[in-house]
Amino acid sequence: MAWGIVSSQPMNQNELFNRTRWRLASWYAGVMGVILSLCGLGVYEAIAHAHWVTIDRELKSVAGTLHDSIEPILQQPGKFEPEAKRLLPDICLTGNPCLSNNSHLERHTLSAIHQGNYYVRLLDLSEQLVGVAGTMPPGLLETSGTEQWQTLKDSTGKRYNQISISLHTQDNYPWGYLQVGRSLQDFDNYLAVIRWILVLGLPVTMGLVGISSWWLARFAMQPIYQSYQQIQQFTADAAHELRTPLAATRATVESALRMPHLSPSEARDILGTVERQNRRLTQLVADLLLLARLERQILSVQHQLCCLNDIISDLVEELAALAIAAKVTLTSEVRVDTPLNVLGNEEQLYRLVSNLIINAIQYTPPGGQIRVILDSSEEQALIQIQDTGIGIAPKEQTRIFERFYRVSSDRSRSSGGAGLGLAIAQAIVQAHQGSLTLSSVLGQGSIFTIKLRPEGY
Ligand code: ADP
Repeated sequence: MAWGIVSSQPMNQNELFNRTRWRLASWYAGVMGVILSLCGLGVYEAIAHAHWVTIDRELKSVAGTLHDSIEPILQQPGKFEPEAKRLLPDICLTGNPCLSNNSHLERHTLSAIHQGNYYVRLLDLSEQLVGVAGTMPPGLLETSGTEQWQTLKDSTGKRYNQISISLHTQDNYPWGYLQVGRSLQDFDNYLAVIRWILVLGLPVTMGLVGISSWWLARFAMQPIYQSYQQIQQFTADAAHELRTPLAATRATVESALRMPHLSPSEARDILGTVERQNRRLTQLVADLLLLARLERQILSVQHQLCCLNDIISDLVEELAALAIAAKVTLTSEVRVDTPLNVLGNEEQLYRLVSNLIINAIQYTPPGGQIRVILDSSEEQALIQIQDTGIGIAPKEQTRIFERFYRVSSDRSRSSGGAGLGLAIAQAIVQAHQGSLTLSSVLGQGSIFTIKLRPEGY
């Protein structure tokens, strides 16, 4: 912008935006944290369940095989037949002395129960222990044989999963119960490792989520911050522009009030000055209003047929006096055989072309030439305003379309412009779905080209 009243402040130095960014990032990180924790919990539960199901199935299969092998041997309820020792060689029957180390025993078909994490208990019908085989955990409680699945703890706190199945004799009389248990230590260790991974992984992940949230919040707020800055800049520029004529009016009125006597001619001079400032203010407010409405698309382009040939010839005629006063030549050149019409708002199109011609007159030194050309190319109506004026430096060429931007404020101020002419022209062209481009060489002149879609194409 021309005046640079609002300094461009980085987003993190703006209290409001900084606070909003913090809030946005915290919410984002919080929501992500809850989602990630739930996902972690879900994954943990799924893994634990899958393992548990595998252990149950394995235990059921071992117990089922043992049950099917031992039942045909059993003859009397609660009595362990010596022949069954073939299946459970390391069985320790209640009341008999037992060897604690069974490593010397021959390997067995049901080798799973000798792998160290299985035990077998046989109970009679009154649920009294008949014998135990496998690695019996220390201090494990004797439990009922009627409950199928049980989870038990030994004296060291290790957990065991146990299945109980009822046993029958050869003649199908109830014999007692077979209990097969399995240590859950490997399962518990595995889950503990997963729990540690989750417990340590979550803060690390949350840290990363926090950093990315902070960055993403900035990314999301950047466009809003830019438009906020533009609005601030616009407000400051508009206030500045309004202040100048207001201050001039006030100074004129104050000096008039201080004068003891006012002659009619002095009073007329003062009123003339006040009227000029007032006109300037009114024009400025009208321009701002037009811009605001064009941007908010309140002024819908009326679908009125506008003849570009007429607009150009009218304006060249109207502005001839201004050109003569500025000692420049203003000519028009129509390079189309038939009239070019566009659908749009005639008043706005007049304003568009006149803004460009007036600029060309203002920024062309005496003796210069201004040509307004009407042409058509590739199904487009072209209006070119060419001047042999002061030209515009390449770095200024995009900025001059910004509101209140003046290349050299002092020089333009003498011409009375507020820096809104090209912004209005640009907004009108956009409202007509056209384009406005510029090519200029500093010190040689400028060509503004308007492209519009003619009616009938
Ligand atoms: P202003 O009211 O100051 O004329 P505009 O938006 O119409 O505002 O123009 C913005 C700036 O662009 C002007 O201050 C001027 O420096 C530059 N400009 C516009 N038209 C021309 C031109 N034909 N030749 C050289 N400079 C121009």
